[in-house]
Amino acid sequence: MSGDLFDLLGDIALRFDATGHLTYANLMATELLGDRLTLGAPWRDFMSQVAPRLAEGLPGSVPTAIAKQGHWRGRVKLIDAAGHGEVFMGTIAVDNRVGDAPSGTPSGYFAIFRTLGEARRREHAERELAYRDEFVARLGHELRTPLNAVLGFAQLLELEELERDQRDGIERILTAGRHMQALLDDVLDLARVRTGGVDLDVGPVRVLEVVRGVVDLIQPLADKRGIRRYVQPADDVVALLDRRRLWQVLLNLIGNAVKYGREGGTLRVGVIAKENDRLLIEVADDGPGIEPEQLDRLFRPFERLGAERTGVEGTGLGLALSLALTTAMGGSLSASSRLGAGSTFTLELEAVASGGLAELSAEASPDSPASAVVLHIGADPAAQALVAQALRSRLSAEVVSVSRAAHALDAVHRKQPAVIVLDADLPDAVGTELLHRLGSDPLSALLPKIVLSEDSDPRVHLRLRAAGAHQVAQLPLDVRAFVDAVGDLLRRRSL
Ligand code: ADP
Repeated sequence: MSGDLFDLLGDIALRFDATGHLTYANLMATELLGDRLTLGAPWRDFMSQVAPRLAEGLPGSVPTAIAKQGHWRGRVKLIDAAGHGEVFMGTIAVDNRVGDAPSGTPSGYFAIFRTLGEARRREHAERELAYRDEFVARLGHELRTPLNAVLGFAQLLELEELERDQRDGIERILTAGRHMQALLDDVLDLARVRTGGVDLDVGPVRVLEVVRGVVDLIQPLADKRGIRRYVQPADDVVALLDRRRLWQVLLNLIGNAVKYGREGGTLRVGVIAKENDRLLIEVADDGPGIEPEQLDRLFRPFERLGAERTGVEGTGLGLALSLALTTAMGGSLSASSRLGAGSTFTLELEAVASGGLAELSAEASPDSPASAVVLHIGADPAAQALVAQALRSRLSAEVVSVSRAAHALDAVHRKQPAVIVLDADLPDAVGTELLHRLGSDPLSALLPKIVLSEDSDPRVHLRLRAAGAHQVAQLPLDVRAFVDAVGDLLRRRSL
């Protein structure tokens, strides 16, 4: 029996061994009944001495009922540590599934009590949810380490000279592994948001820029499915939001409209600033729509509403995560749909702080120097100095340097760089690994990345490109070519 698992319950769980000694009490039992519960206390004592202090009306007939029919079931008033009585529904039953007691002898007894009080029940439900999320988060972290090893070694094998079917096998491992990595990221994110562990980084955000960025990002898939895209209106709206989280929610809604929309159909995204400082973003498709009775299951984790049979890729976590993120931002997310006509997802956010749109717009003007920030992730101090000096003097760029991969995402979100330069060899990650990590973050995914590599093997360069590098610059650095490349990327971004 795993103590941890029983601790997830909002019910009281106790276990006695065959001789009637208390061997286990879960977290809820210890919290509610306090230190009057002593492990090792014999069943007889439990009934005659302990029980009266814990319970009123636990009938003396319990042992007889258990002896006769293997269980007792009934109501009992338990007295909590503060002395308040509360009615519980309880079952005490013979547990002959575990242990090595001779056949015919019970290996122990289980007692489970569930409150009948409404307030406590609600409290228990919330607690169970919180524990479950915490459990999932812990499990997710534990799974990550072996998964990283699987992916890492599969990538190493991929570098070898291989037979065709061996290569196919490794590609399958990598595809499945990356899917699992994405799944874990979403599950962990969801658990984190739901346990209130998400830090919002709120600042002025050009909403249309984010919407257009997301629409551009899904362009390849939209083109493949012949879906036209319209973003209305053309004027920008600036709002106080967490840019990364808005990205994440919109990427999911807009991505879904393209994934599930009609082939050759239309995607419309409307951005509406309402008078009461609220911001509406509507994402509408003209796809097959969703059955009315399925609408309320839409936001449940792992719910795919049959899409799992269509071959459309997904985990069923996107909408659950979008809803949790929107709620964390103080907003709401709803869906409406007509079968055969399409679906509309509406995101409503309290978005504009005092000072109004005009002031915020001025703050977030495109001329702001933030557009010329270059982030360099590299541990070698000499290379750091060279990159910083070259870009500052030749391009007047602001260069921010961090020496570890672990700090990269945080720096991206704090400094909002226009270009990322990273060393292929970092003390805590190899280049491809960091590129994958940057690629799965909605903000850094879009930023052009230049990798500085000592390796001259074209296959290594190709691998870095495949992992998301826009360019690979060979070390020792050709400073002029490097500065030209970064300058080009900075100019392209401000067009
Ligand atoms: P995923 O796309 O990974 O399956 P989501 O949580 O984003 O997960 O969506 C859950 C389910 O809702 C999808 O599997 C799909 O069946 C349905 N769905 C979401 N968006 C749309 C849409 N725009 N049109 C039709 N069905 C949709």
